[in-house]
Amino acid sequence: SLSDRLTATFQNLRGKGRLSESDVNATVRDIRMALLDADVALPVVKEFTRGVRERALGSEVSQALNPGQQVVKIVNDELVKILGGETRQLQLAKNPPTVILLAGLQGSGKTTFAGKLAKLLKDQGHYPLLVAADLQRPNAVTQLEVVADRAGVVCFAPEQGNVGGHDAVTDSGEGTHSFGDPVWVAKAGVGQAKVRGYDVVIVDTAGRLAVDENLMQQARNIRDEIQPDEVLFVIDAMIGQAAVDTALAFQDGVDFTGVVLSKLDGDARGGAALSVASVTGRPIMYASIGEQTKDIEVFHPDRMASRILDMGDVLTLIEQAEKAFDQRQAAEMQRKFLADEDFTFHDFLEQMSAIKKMGNLKSLLQMMPGMGQMKEQLANFDEREFDRVEAMVRSMTPFERTHPKQINGSRRSRIAKGSGVTVSEVNQLLERFQGAQKMMRQMRKGGGMPGMPPMPG
Ligand code: GDP
Ligand code: MG
Repeated sequence: SLSDRLTATFQNLRGKGRLSESDVNATVRDIRMALLDADVALPVVKEFTRGVRERALGSEVSQALNPGQQVVKIVNDELVKILGGETRQLQLAKNPPTVILLAGLQGSGKTTFAGKLAKLLKDQGHYPLLVAADLQRPNAVTQLEVVADRAGVVCFAPEQGNVGGHDAVTDSGEGTHSFGDPVWVAKAGVGQAKVRGYDVVIVDTAGRLAVDENLMQQARNIRDEIQPDEVLFVIDAMIGQAAVDTALAFQDGVDFTGVVLSKLDGDARGGAALSVASVTGRPIMYASIGEQTKDIEVFHPDRMASRILDMGDVLTLIEQAEKAFDQRQAAEMQRKFLADEDFTFHDFLEQMSAIKKMGNLKSLLQMMPGMGQMKEQLANFDEREFDRVEAMVRSMTPFERTHPKQINGSRRSRIAKGSGVTVSEVNQLLERFQGAQKMMRQMRKGGGMPGMPPMPG
């Protein structure tokens, strides 16, 4: 799979002190193969690998990351960029209702998605109305009604001719239109929403198994009639290389403002996602991840990139470490590291403040792979513990901070008094500190970067 291959590629980079041009070329070649394997379209692969190569060979130097980590970060950044950058929010109309039109091939997941989106919006306090403008298949309307029922929302359906089971929809002299005309149904549905005070209208439409000019025209007519705020193009993530042509045909035929990637729960590894977002320049806004109403996710380009890279949240961790890592401190640590000097309580304090800068410690530790067995301990972890530790270190004299072994019984009780803790807490701290010193010595042997959590693998 794509993620397996990329993981293997990055594994090879770990532990490299410096990346040569041939390392970069080999890595880019691997990434290229992995992307092609995952059905990413060739032009997209080319653009992507060019971006990665340029940046990897460029003069970006990071103090906080080793070269292997830097390449991982570059690949991730470029993936996020190609996936649309920031998460795009649904564009709500200034004057409700917000009208959302769904388009896509038959079987792509439009009707299922209509229910999911309605439920999501309902849970956010909206008042959505589903409109059944797929009159192509006899049971399409019934299917949307079932979906609406599951989502606990109302469906405007022409066959029943009512909204919510009590309001009769009359053919109010629209002339040429009838209940069989999807354009009329869409228009009548939006009209009902205005009258009844629904603030979001989701219009389900028909699709064929292949791109079809008649249905494209129909979707265009519906669009022109109801002037939607959003046209969401729903695409099955499992259709592989066909994704690009289909997406371009719909962009040309109806145009759309956002993409919904459905069936991401299947085997699809995100190749379609990369291609569609890149060739259409339209953001992916939602992911459909199953057949149930709840199986919907707001699409986050950064999370999808991590999913494709299959690196847990290591990348987030790298970014936070970069932010928090003070360069002066890095230089100082590096110097000590090389000079084989011992880790002191001064360093300990600095590291603690760096960790604090990284934000919530619990979530940080949980992001690190292989922390499973620590989950329980984390659940009981009290961040105020940090403050107590800091108080203890601050109660030490400068001599004690650099000579922890000299902290005898009377010094321990003085520190305990000074920081308002018990002597046994001071003992525990000193024990843990020795553990940290030991770890630093091991890292020195292993050639790891001081101040950075070691990379997994
Ligand atoms: P439409 O023709 O575009 O309206 O597509 P449907 O909503 O009727 O979906 C077609 C089929 O795909 C149905 O059997 C759905 O249950 C299934 N389906 C839709 N979305 C998903 C999804 O995200 N994951 C999975 N596994 N199945 C889905
Ligand atoms: Mg449908």
